[in-house]
Amino acid sequence: MSKHRPWNFSAGPSVLPEAVLEQAAAEMLDWHGSGMSVMEMSHRGPEFTQICDEAESDLRQLLGVGDEFAVLFMQGGATAENAIVPMNLIGRSTQKHADYVLTGSWSTKSFKEAAKYGDVTVAASNDAVFDDQAQTYGPLTWVPDVSQWRVRSTAAYLHLCSNETIGGVEFIAWPDARQMNAMGAPDVPLVVDASSHFLSRPMDFSRVGMLYAGAQKNAGPAGVTVVIIRRDLIGHALPVCPSAFDYSNVAKEQSKFNTPPTYAIYIAGLVFKWLLRQGGLSVIEKANITKSDALYGFFDQSQFYRAPVHPSVRSRMNVPFTLVDSSLDQAFLDGARAAGLNQLKGHKSVGGMRASIYNAMPLEGVMALIDYLQWFEREHG
Ligand code: PLP
Repeated sequence: MSKHRPWNFSAGPSVLPEAVLEQAAAEMLDWHGSGMSVMEMSHRGPEFTQICDEAESDLRQLLGVGDEFAVLFMQGGATAENAIVPMNLIGRSTQKHADYVLTGSWSTKSFKEAAKYGDVTVAASNDAVFDDQAQTYGPLTWVPDVSQWRVRSTAAYLHLCSNETIGGVEFIAWPDARQMNAMGAPDVPLVVDASSHFLSRPMDFSRVGMLYAGAQKNAGPAGVTVVIIRRDLIGHALPVCPSAFDYSNVAKEQSKFNTPPTYAIYIAGLVFKWLLRQGGLSVIEKANITKSDALYGFFDQSQFYRAPVHPSVRSRMNVPFTLVDSSLDQAFLDGARAAGLNQLKGHKSVGGMRASIYNAMPLEGVMALIDYLQWFEREHG
């Protein structure tokens, strides 16, 4: 495979490690002497069982997650989880209460979906201007301080999106036991949509009841959703919950209640092994800090570009930025494409630009982007 593919800054589905793609290509017709492609295997046969079991145990090793959590490979993406979560968990609260922190498009979608299943309220929101003395930040570019969150002690769970892929707002940490205690909600488990920074760094599972992530950013191809759920929270599905989405069924059958997305799980398993070979999530985190610091550092010294997110919550994975003169946007994108820098256009709901720099984007790709940013500024500044 060519070493010189264009750099791909897509927010997802996004770039995968070339070593993973090469291995998948080499094993395409005959997986480990089985005479079958992984796509052709029975999901209950010994070969796929081995693939699925290894994927689960490698993922547990990467995250440091023990048997008190079930690790499930599901379908429907994070969008389906927005409904599957309340269908499975909201019944833990007799009043069907669940609370949501809104920090952008994805958490707002989760909140609206959950409202179909119970009494959901907003625990905190960044839908206003924030003035931190030094500077003013617009709506959706910051995270409300935990001391201001209002969580009901009766809530079945507290939901947050730990990395807003569109706005580029990342929770570097989420509330710990002391902070949940201070909110008067010591027993309310966190439910985290971690789709777009899953596996980008170690994560603290001590307060997590459940975490979900669509694979198609850092974990593999579209088609598989990773669900990690504390076993004691399973078993409260509403009668309306489809049986294939009832966590107790999926956990009991080790993700094979019905035919799982076998090929997507296989590729995700190769990604997990690639991450272990890199040295695990602490090593990956260092690389992600280096890459994102380089990019934000560049924007902060420029008068030509702007990175709108508050420095304390800037995403290491999705870096939104604007050109101060937006009439140059199309020329910027055309030039970038010609320079081998693809998919830099921002999400249609916010405009501007966005560079997604997931695990598989090397520092070299980020430096190539910075070179282009400098060149374009010299040409048009
Ligand atoms: N949540 C986040 C944070 C996302 O980034 C996305 C998609 O990009 C979704 C949810 C929706 O995922 P899907 O399209 O797989 O349903």
